[in-house]
Amino acid sequence: MALTPAQATYFGFPGTLLFALLLLSALALFAYTVSRRVQLLLLGAGDRENRLERPLARLWHVVEYGFLQRKMFRDAYAGLYHALIFSGFLVLLLRTLMLVFEGLFPGAALPFLPAGFWEGYLLVKDAVLVTTFVGVVLALLRRHVARKERLDPSFDADLILCLIGFLMVTDLAAGAAKMALDAKAAAAGASGVAAAAGAASAHAALATNALWEPLTSSLSKQISSLSFSSLQSIYFGSWWAHLVAILVFANYLPFAKHFHVITALPNLFFAKLDSPGKMVTFDIEKAAEAERFGVSRAEDFTWKQKLDMFTCTECGRCREVCPTHLTGKPLSPKGFMVDLRNALYTDADALIDVDAGRGDGSAEVALAARTPLIGGWIDEETIWACTTCRYCEHACPVGITYVDKITDLRRHLVLERSEFPKEAQTAFNGMERQGNPWNFAASDRDAWTKDLPFPVLTMAEAADAKLAGGIEVLFWVGCAGSYEERGKRVSRSLAKLLHEAGVTYAILGKEETCTGDAARRLGNEYLFQTLAQQNVERMKGYGVTKIVTNCPHCFNTLANEYPDFGGRFEVMHGTELVARLVAEGRIRLVHGAPMSLSFHDPCYLGRHNGVYDAPRELLNAIPGVSIRELPNSRENGMCCGAGGGRMWLDETIGTRVNQARFAEIEANGTDAVGVSCPFCMVMLGNAKAEMAGTTEAFDVLELAARALPVHPG
Ligand code: SF4
Ligand code: SF4
Repeated sequence: MALTPAQATYFGFPGTLLFALLLLSALALFAYTVSRRVQLLLLGAGDRENRLERPLARLWHVVEYGFLQRKMFRDAYAGLYHALIFSGFLVLLLRTLMLVFEGLFPGAALPFLPAGFWEGYLLVKDAVLVTTFVGVVLALLRRHVARKERLDPSFDADLILCLIGFLMVTDLAAGAAKMALDAKAAAAGASGVAAAAGAASAHAALATNALWEPLTSSLSKQISSLSFSSLQSIYFGSWWAHLVAILVFANYLPFAKHFHVITALPNLFFAKLDSPGKMVTFDIEKAAEAERFGVSRAEDFTWKQKLDMFTCTECGRCREVCPTHLTGKPLSPKGFMVDLRNALYTDADALIDVDAGRGDGSAEVALAARTPLIGGWIDEETIWACTTCRYCEHACPVGITYVDKITDLRRHLVLERSEFPKEAQTAFNGMERQGNPWNFAASDRDAWTKDLPFPVLTMAEAADAKLAGGIEVLFWVGCAGSYEERGKRVSRSLAKLLHEAGVTYAILGKEETCTGDAARRLGNEYLFQTLAQQNVERMKGYGVTKIVTNCPHCFNTLANEYPDFGGRFEVMHGTELVARLVAEGRIRLVHGAPMSLSFHDPCYLGRHNGVYDAPRELLNAIPGVSIRELPNSRENGMCCGAGGGRMWLDETIGTRVNQARFAEIEANGTDAVGVSCPFCMVMLGNAKAEMAGTTEAFDVLELAARALPVHPG
């Protein structure tokens, strides 16, 4: 194939050979580094999820969050510059391939693309050189001028941004110089493609260039008065600088936060698609045999958990929303993820050597003396601070999860070291001995039914009366609904609503025990599994198929976690069932007075299970109630501070989370706040008392029950 004059004078030996050697070395180094990362990834425990099921849904997940970058645009400015850079990256991948091909086979074009493709591509490429450069400038402005708190100063980020900007400049300069060289050669009648076709066709070719590469061609015109040798220097210099920068960029990626350029799309593909609030069940007996519970070393995390670490872009979106970080606790989800990654990378070589049985024993010595993960890289306080609200996971643009890692560390502390906040012991004892974390007598579990004007059947009574088969739904009351004062009122409200609708329901009564949600999230998997097996056995014994509960924590555990123990039930939240009964006309809500209401979304109902509409539909059906949404609501709802077993732990550092949330509620200026979780009710009620606030909390079911018709007698 004929070379252009510029190529002919350059891409002969030794240029081609030199480039080929450089390319091969860079690729070999890249392959080596990535293979080391893969080895690191595959150390430790196997993954416990099926990461390949529903491939189409996974691909769509990649398209939605990877290519369309849905989460990035929650911060419109950052979304814009990231989209500009990302689209440039995609378009210029082909351009890079072209340039590499040009270096290896001077004068040849990429062979596998249809005729006419290049013109269109060159037009897009020219546009993308500009938009990517604009994206880089916007990103640098965000990092250095209009900086957000979530973005820490980062040499690494600045270096990569400057490198991307440099690539755009060198690409443009090489293209323009090459175009000017071709034009000069054509005009001078020199040998080459344009000249061979004569001056007329050279002019036609230049006109075509102006059409398809307007930016490159206008720059080429600007520099066309330079001498042939100056243009050659610009072309060769820019071409080499561009290609060398790309090879440096590629080899730098695996060492820096920009590894996400490679790992983000796979991380999104392998993400957990459903039941984000479900914790993984592990085999207690096997763990006991191996004498290893949970995770105490970075390498013990699963490959997917490590892929999360590799993928963190350090964007800080998780930190920006984390209630514990915002209230001054030591936990920053971004810091947590970066610390895990640093712990893994620091010992990477020694870990790989030991795993492969290589070396002279020095790797073992290095590992024995390394900084421990718990108490070294990560403080214990950090591990216990998390409320498992999952706001960070909702915010993360690349699908990273935290709660699984925090709870794996807690499992290790509780089951292997017996190290946990002393208050947790009281809750564990209560769950173990009385079936509730408050330590109330198990025999009082159904005492809340006493004041009702109608009997509430237990499943045992229904079975005795041969009614068990006719029970439509089991009302799972939960510990708070059974013992806590406001919780008991809400339980009575739900009973009244079910009674009004003529739903045949029953409770387990004294046979119900805690679901074990708090035990599991505090790391006591053994206690959780004991309670889960007991509850599942009991419900299956009564032939339960449908459950309604007002506690989102029970809801999450019953619906998402009990299937691992053979308990597959249709589980509804109280607001879901009652809203449906209202819509079907089985319940009429007739009483009410004007009341403006904020609605506080419980994390375990909303972010963990996607139930946002039912409580609102029910509130809207109550005469007089008007909802004024909180600025942080639905997927962005802020935690009350009770989740993850934090309800049972002291909170002594920083502002109390419940007070921070209550301040937001007070600022919304409504008459009251609606809740749909007994824990939220307690936390917000406490905050009101502690802050001498005025916004009273009501459960949605309480308000609905108040609106029922009053029946004579
Ligand atoms: S789950 Fe909630 S409390 Fe825990 S790290 Fe994430 S945002 Fe923070
Ligand atoms: S974990 Fe996700 S949200 Fe947090 S800093 Fe890393 S990429 Fe950003």
